[in-house]
Amino acid sequence: MGEKLVSEAIVIGAGPAGLGTALGLAREGIDVVVLEKQSMLGTERRGETIRFHAEMDELLGGGFLEKQTLRKISRRTYFSHSGEQSVDRTISNPNLIISWPDFIQAMAEVVSASGARIWPSSCVHDLIKQDGRVQGVKAMISGFAEEELRTKAVFSCGGWADPSSRQLLHDRSKIDLPVSKKLVRGYTGSQDRLEYHFHIDNSSLAVGTIFPRGGTEAEIILMSLPKQGRTGRITFEEFCSRHRLFQERLEGAESFYALNSMVPMGGMIFPFSQRPGLVLAGDALGHVQARGGSGIRTSFLIGYTAGRLGAQAIRSGVWSRETSELFDKNMAKSPHVRSLRLHNFVYSELRSRIFGRLQGPADMERQWRFLKHALR
Ligand SMILES: Cc1cc2nc3c(=O)[nH]c(=O)nc-3n(C[C@H](O)[C@H](O)[C@H](O)COP(=O)(O)OP(=O)(O)OC[C@H]3O[C@@H](n4cnc5c(N)ncnc54)[C@H](O)[C@@H]3O)c2cc1C
Repeated sequence: MGEKLVSEAIVIGAGPAGLGTALGLAREGIDVVVLEKQSMLGTERRGETIRFHAEMDELLGGGFLEKQTLRKISRRTYFSHSGEQSVDRTISNPNLIISWPDFIQAMAEVVSASGARIWPSSCVHDLIKQDGRVQGVKAMISGFAEEELRTKAVFSCGGWADPSSRQLLHDRSKIDLPVSKKLVRGYTGSQDRLEYHFHIDNSSLAVGTIFPRGGTEAEIILMSLPKQGRTGRITFEEFCSRHRLFQERLEGAESFYALNSMVPMGGMIFPFSQRPGLVLAGDALGHVQARGGSGIRTSFLIGYTAGRLGAQAIRSGVWSRETSELFDKNMAKSPHVRSLRLHNFVYSELRSRIFGRLQGPADMERQWRFLKHALR
């Protein structure tokens, strides 16, 4: 087993948080390596809608988001459980539909151009801890060499399955919500709106979404939400059998991509730096803003901030407990972190409290005239 000081910083994961972090570090002149377990970046898809954000666009080189946009959608329709009641919304900052693999690979090009090195097929399975500090990682590099990589700071951005978040024994059982996704062809429903179909029964609460992608393609997502403290995964078959309108919409459509995963929208973990020499960002901490198109942007922007502040911490000398405290104090001042906390309260906690109180389908229909005001 080899042992090297591979770089000043190691980032785990080349998703939006890891790429944002690496960009922040590299632009501050820090030598950084990104370890990504997938052999081709972006193969395992996640979200494919985003909303324009000037700072993100600027950081990735003006016009980046426009170039990645397959189409823009400004309308949303929310349906009650029966499908008989609905509410339409028009949003001023439209959803941009993107292709996840293209988006991630284009981001990675920008990050590589800034000087960061990205190593695919490199899976981290342990942290190296010594003298109370994280000093590196143990990883399978390029798919075959088991190595201990030493560094000054590790930025763990491995998403919901992040190895550091798991090792720190965070109870993620309430944070990670089951999500299933399909990409289909042959969709013939509305092209001009995102659709959200709510589901409730005695034991489960869920939402099925249909996001048209142009031509006859659509992204279909099923997300299970907590009910009475429990969250169970509902399948597409179960959902379609209970929601005629949803099923009708998808008649004749054929799936060409399917994923069963988790989306950590059930709560957040703080602080960012939980050990000297270790920082977490993105889904690793459950920092997904529960608002269409805000997981990718939030992870990237907060990752970028963590990278910039991480560079200062690395330069200040050996990363101590005080360094972690100062790092977190500075992270808390970031407008992106403040906005995340506020929106999480308004859009996630309040909404789940409102929906969590519903007794069943009939109650949802009765309460719809109030509920619809919580849907934007
Ligand atoms: C089905 C689905 C739909 C979604 N829809 C939207 C949407 O429309 N809009 C939106 O903004 N957000 C959406 N989200 C949320 C959004 O995708 C995430 O919030 C965002 O991708 C988080 O970025 P991240 O970098 O923290 O994690 P990820 O994007 O999950 O990236 C983590 C990376 O780390 C790698 N990795 C993991 N473990 C290791 C390891 N041990 N060693 C090396 N590499 C590792 C993974 O392979 C991955 O590339 C959706 C999520 C899901 C699952």
